[in-house]
Amino acid sequence: MSVLAKFAEENGVKYFMVSYTDLFGGQRAKLVPAQAIADMEEDGAGFAGFATWFDMTPAHPDMLAVPDPSAVIQLPWKPEVAWVPADCVMEGQPVEQAPRQVLKKLVAEAAEAGLRVKTGIEAEFFLLTPEGNEISDPFDTAEKPCYDQQAVMRRYDVIAEICDYMLDLGWGPYQNDHEDANGQFEMNWEFDDALVTADRHSFFKFMVKSVAEKYGYRATFMPKPVEGLTGNGCHAHISVWDLDGKTNAFAGDAGGQIGEVGLSEQGGFFLGGIMKHAEALAALTNPTVNSYKRINAPRTMSGATWAPNTVTWTGNNRTHMVRVPGPGRFELRLPDGAVNPYLLQAVIIAAGLSGIGSKADPGPRYDIDMYAEGQSITDAPKLPLNMLDAIRNFDADVELKSKLGDSFSASYIKMKHQEWNAFVTHFSAWEKQNTLDI
Ligand code: ADP
Ligand code: MG
Ligand code: MG
Ligand code: MG
Ligand code: MG
Repeated sequence: MSVLAKFAEENGVKYFMVSYTDLFGGQRAKLVPAQAIADMEEDGAGFAGFATWFDMTPAHPDMLAVPDPSAVIQLPWKPEVAWVPADCVMEGQPVEQAPRQVLKKLVAEAAEAGLRVKTGIEAEFFLLTPEGNEISDPFDTAEKPCYDQQAVMRRYDVIAEICDYMLDLGWGPYQNDHEDANGQFEMNWEFDDALVTADRHSFFKFMVKSVAEKYGYRATFMPKPVEGLTGNGCHAHISVWDLDGKTNAFAGDAGGQIGEVGLSEQGGFFLGGIMKHAEALAALTNPTVNSYKRINAPRTMSGATWAPNTVTWTGNNRTHMVRVPGPGRFELRLPDGAVNPYLLQAVIIAAGLSGIGSKADPGPRYDIDMYAEGQSITDAPKLPLNMLDAIRNFDADVELKSKLGDSFSASYIKMKHQEWNAFVTHFSAWEKQNTLDI
């Protein structure tokens, strides 16, 4: 009997959402009745790739999304439905541009080197009114709203419902708070293998949006949904372990500035890879036009953006692109809420493996307040100022492109250029205001 058919029988599931994620991070699904899931588990559900954000034409053959039964999750808010992430296949071959395939390839590559990458993410979000124009809570107006006790309790029903679900699912959630922007929240759960975290990240977005809708709100992970307020980051905490997952290969003392923060030589090289490729990998970690209003941003109303502008690393200090909060792991603070969950993990592994392969030096550690004294650092690269610069940086980084897969990279760059062109050909109120009387 098929694993999913059995799962349906045991858990009272009537429908499976066979779901895949496209290049722009959209989750696409077909609702398959449990009676039909056995065949789909084998062959996959059919999709027209061109109808979603893939570099395909209407003439391409069917893309088949083959569910991964090991990753199935019953919807806690609608238990008769189960979500199951799928791997895209076309004519018997993996679709190289499909984000989950890109990640699986890199996880396998890391395993060949005896490494197992484990990550935890912090997917911040806002709760807005249904139209998305305003913060849902009209009383949430404090200048420094971070950890606001009263405001988090006004959204207790939403936050607790989501956290209860994570507890039931066994994700190990451990804290929830009001974040640094009015209307913004963060919920944290335990780190795990990169693919597990990517699937959970996808499901978390789906769950947060679904529960928020139930209460009449609109949840958004948009990088900078409200001008002047802190944006939605999606920090990633990274460590690398041996294959049995018991020994942290990042923990140790490499000597020098790396050793001082509790990282091993391998941890230093992996970090070196992230630093080396940062200007290019931003095209994936900060994938939208709006992403560049979060990084490189002026001071927000709360006093700090908490987002980076320069390629620097440090110890336990939140003003840099990379922070080492404690021994044996580091935090990449660059990614934002628009990041594709699979490409986030994939590009971390790609850059990290490249760093290990080339014994990359992460450069000097800066222990300064980057927001106050950043101008004193003149030799560190600046993060791209807009999406086009990021795409061009990525296109110029031949090594990163090949680590992610040349076919994937070419498709991504092509689709992102198309998106940029759509943006620049769009007429804005700003240009009219600033050009009308010229
Ligand atoms: P902060 O806000 O201080 O950056 P959070 O507690 O919000 O940190 O999030 C930390 C994330 O890092 C969590 O997902 C946690 O499970 C994860 N994490 C902790 N230790 C490690 C580690 N060794 N490797 C990878 N992720 C880790
Ligand atoms: Mg049809
Ligand atoms: Mg946090
Ligand atoms: Mg946060
Ligand atoms: Mg963080």
